[in-house]
Amino acid sequence: MKTWDLVIVGGSAAGFQVAISAKAQKRMKKILVIRKEPKAVVPCGIPYIVGTLGSIEKNLLPDTLLGDTDLMIDEVTSIDRKAKTISTAGGETIGYEKLVLATGSVPVIPKMPGVELDNVFAVWKDADYLARLHNALEGGKNVIIIGGGFIGAEFADECQKMGCNVTIVELLEHCLLLNCSEEFCLKIEDKLQEAGVRVRTGCRIQSIEGKGKVEYAVCDQGERMKADLVILAIGVTPNVDLARRAGLPIGELGGIVVDQYMITSDPDILAIGDCAEKYSFFTGKPTALRLASTAAREARIAAANLVRPRSQRNLGTIGVFATMIAGTAVGVAGLTESGATQQGFDVVTGEAAAVDKHPGGMPGATDLRVKLLFDRSNGEILGGQCCGGVSTGEMANCMATLIATKMTVNRVATLRVGTHPALTASPLTYQIVKAAEEATLRLT
Ligand SMILES: Cc1cc2nc3c(=O)[nH]c(=O)nc-3n(C[C@H](O)[C@H](O)[C@H](O)COP(=O)(O)OP(=O)(O)OC[C@H]3O[C@@H](n4cnc5c(N)ncnc54)[C@H](O)[C@@H]3O)c2cc1C
Repeated sequence: MKTWDLVIVGGSAAGFQVAISAKAQKRMKKILVIRKEPKAVVPCGIPYIVGTLGSIEKNLLPDTLLGDTDLMIDEVTSIDRKAKTISTAGGETIGYEKLVLATGSVPVIPKMPGVELDNVFAVWKDADYLARLHNALEGGKNVIIIGGGFIGAEFADECQKMGCNVTIVELLEHCLLLNCSEEFCLKIEDKLQEAGVRVRTGCRIQSIEGKGKVEYAVCDQGERMKADLVILAIGVTPNVDLARRAGLPIGELGGIVVDQYMITSDPDILAIGDCAEKYSFFTGKPTALRLASTAAREARIAAANLVRPRSQRNLGTIGVFATMIAGTAVGVAGLTESGATQQGFDVVTGEAAAVDKHPGGMPGATDLRVKLLFDRSNGEILGGQCCGGVSTGEMANCMATLIATKMTVNRVATLRVGTHPALTASPLTYQIVKAAEEATLRLT
């Protein structure tokens, strides 16, 4: 039996990053990544396979990123914690000094009649499955997307680019409502509709009908929507079967329980990424938000702790992400107003809008709107949202940094920013500074 210093189960965002970071520190010589699928897809790029990229091959995570780390394609079926070995479906038994579980998440499949019909697809991170989804999509087809979160909205936008007749069906009052304030949701819904996507909100699909193949999706208000293809995009659940069978505790929201060092109840086993329980930066309570950026960050923390025990702590999840729908982007960091209010915060907001270059006639200038949320009790920033063009993504990252450092409204209002006509808003209108200035007025 062979033994490695570090064995990593899972070869996607979290698994790759922990292998790369641990290897870079040069103390762990023998590292093995075990992954089920022969090819790993870039998870965040999945919606773009169908339109913008046009093929699965353009959305693969290159194994060369692993350098000289060993990669095995196999499924880990059990962990013997006493013997410090794992077993695989291929009949291998492998010894480990340290084990990292990066087994990710799987799509939620609703229990509804017809979900098993042909041409009903969930968003599995599996190249062969996604190739079947891609092959089934053709211009002119009626596509129903169940779930108006950012994954559903991205799929809707991409399918309409292929010339499909797309309807997005969302249970809540608005698409993206779990991620953004209403005004940002409305902006994205408008953009989807302008692009030709039909948006049905406040509507639950209760069954899917067809003879062998999907023909209709039926909503709770009785409407039967013609469907050649259905995409289920209603969320993910942590993939923790292996951990559960090994007796590792599972948390309230279904992830593997870890401490601030990403260590499970077994000191030789760590868990990172979508399979690990997430705890809110703001409250310390479990949170359901699962993102590739969080997975990569947890992986870096885990790698540091593997090499220098307890050198890096995870102080909790601040969700930060952005998406672009029909040419308009939204970015979000931290809590939304409703999320903050639910957690008991008394929130003060500030808003500002300006073009993201200056003067506004500079090529490529786009309006960028920013909304910031502060805690009235101490002035600390709790969240931010922005909406505009490509600068939105990095603006969301900037807001996440303000949140992570617990900046107060007065400090954000006097933030040092660099500006340039071709690259940023004017120093007179710089959006996050202006939004904080506006919030200070509301605080007095
Ligand atoms: C369509 C889509 C778009 C997204 N867009 C974004 C985005 O824009 N930004 C963002 O931050 N996040 C995005 N996400 C979320 C992001 O993809 C996940 O948070 C991320 O993939 C989590 O990475 P992970 O490595 O923890 O898990 P996963 O990506 O789920 O990978 C799990 C890995 O474990 C392997 N595995 C599981 N069990 C076993 C086993 N028993 N043996 C061997 N191998 C096993 C799998 O083969 C896989 O390699 C998106 C997700 C989807 C589905």
